[in-house]
Amino acid sequence: MYDTPAMFIAGEWIDSRASSGAVKNPANGEVLGSFPHAGPADLERAVDAAEAGLRDWRALMPAERCAVLARAAGLLRDRIEEIARIVTLEQGKPLAEARGEVLGAARLLDWDAVAGRHIYGQVVPSDAGSRVTVVYEPIGVVAGFAPWNFPLSSSVRKIGSALAAGCSVILKTAEKTPATGTALVRCLADAGIPRGVVGLVFGEPAAISEFLIGAPAVRMITLTGSVGVGKLLAAQAGAQMKPSLMELGGHAPVIICDDVDAAAVGRLAAGTKFRNAGQICTAPSRFIVHDDVYEPFVESFVEATRSLRVGDGMDAATTMGPLTNPDRCEAMERMIADAQGRAATVRTGGHRIGNRGNFFEPTVLTDVDVEAEVMRDEPFGPVAPIVRFDDLDKAVALANAVPYGLAAYAFTNSATRAGMLAERIESGGLAINQFVGSMPESPFGGVKDSGYGREGGCEGVRAFLTSKSVFHRYAAPSS
Ligand code: NAD
Repeated sequence: MYDTPAMFIAGEWIDSRASSGAVKNPANGEVLGSFPHAGPADLERAVDAAEAGLRDWRALMPAERCAVLARAAGLLRDRIEEIARIVTLEQGKPLAEARGEVLGAARLLDWDAVAGRHIYGQVVPSDAGSRVTVVYEPIGVVAGFAPWNFPLSSSVRKIGSALAAGCSVILKTAEKTPATGTALVRCLADAGIPRGVVGLVFGEPAAISEFLIGAPAVRMITLTGSVGVGKLLAAQAGAQMKPSLMELGGHAPVIICDDVDAAAVGRLAAGTKFRNAGQICTAPSRFIVHDDVYEPFVESFVEATRSLRVGDGMDAATTMGPLTNPDRCEAMERMIADAQGRAATVRTGGHRIGNRGNFFEPTVLTDVDVEAEVMRDEPFGPVAPIVRFDDLDKAVALANAVPYGLAAYAFTNSATRAGMLAERIESGGLAINQFVGSMPESPFGGVKDSGYGREGGCEGVRAFLTSKSVFHRYAAPSS
């Protein structure tokens, strides 16, 4: 039922080791299996293999590289049931959401397979009498670090564009979800990726990142994770003069103006907020609602929240699974108590469910003080704070009042307001009248503490390229 997590180093699968960690099912706390830890010798081998793999991979024609990625996308689709089950067992999300993640990951790889065929150079008109061409080359070996909340699609984000650019990659998936990483890399291996071009490791996160960032052959770092770890790894990469791409946390504001059907928006908002039990970096997580539509919004939001079925993600009736990490239940309790201490009302939820598995009630807080912890820090869980506004300038100020800037959402039928919000909201993305956090064909990433660099779109592959200007005078000097 659960596949043994295995590392992939120099084209070999490694699934047993004396030093290993346990993977637990967040729905019941039972041990699913164990994963091997990469030691320094493994990491050295992975780096050497990636260096050799880079030479082979970049020498292929773009069409050959991209065909491998497209085949891997096809294998993800073929294996959707088995991979979705692994995602749900390890991470907890309902099986239907896990299937959606597999399809989303395949679409990301499809996009990379197309983008990798469009790496064009430039011919620059020169004033100096030489022919100036700019060519784009793969940056080199990339170390990618993925989180557990979207263990498959985030891992694809870490490696797909880099591979399309002609780089080789060493991926470290989160230790809570190692078998998902194994399933992804199996698709690439079965699609024919040459030896060493993709490596997969797990173990002690800090030891692995320190080793890989310090390895001279590794030329770039890409992380999807928390702000704290992002700052740590970015500093380590900076000290080594290595570029990094950081996709970090978010705390997305949702501004709901008085010119919309607030009840309809409330239903949609609740359905989106509690996807993946709220553990999404682009989750709508601060609801800022105009006074005149506040009550209908809250009522429909609360009703939709109460209709959610919390349970084991393997149960087809479940619409919200457990939290992946047991610590998050305590974080939810802390945030709720803090908001209540500042006069917020718990309209539904508020408590942990049972004592087996990491289940927490989907919770709605109203009239929340803007200084409450849940308004300032990324909740990354099923707690939705709702506040009022009477003036759109104040709503914008509140939306921008946190150090995060990843996703943002606004609902209005006024083109003027939409235009103003698009100009003034500080975020890497803004969805108007819908909840769209990202798509393969547009650049995705954050501003402020949410990170830097972009994935997807035309920028996705470019992030893993470096330019070389060639100043060519046709004739060598002669006397
Ligand atoms: P995390 O930062 O704890 O872990 C991310 C990766 O870093 C994992 O591979 C982990 O093993 C590794 N890591 C953890 N501690 C480390 C350390 N001390 N040194 C080196 N590496 C370390 O994040 P998480 O809890 O797995 O994921 C949740 C976070 O990720 C949230 O903040 C969420 O918003 C963010 N996230 C962002 C995006 C995005 O695209 N912007 C997408 C998904 C998740």
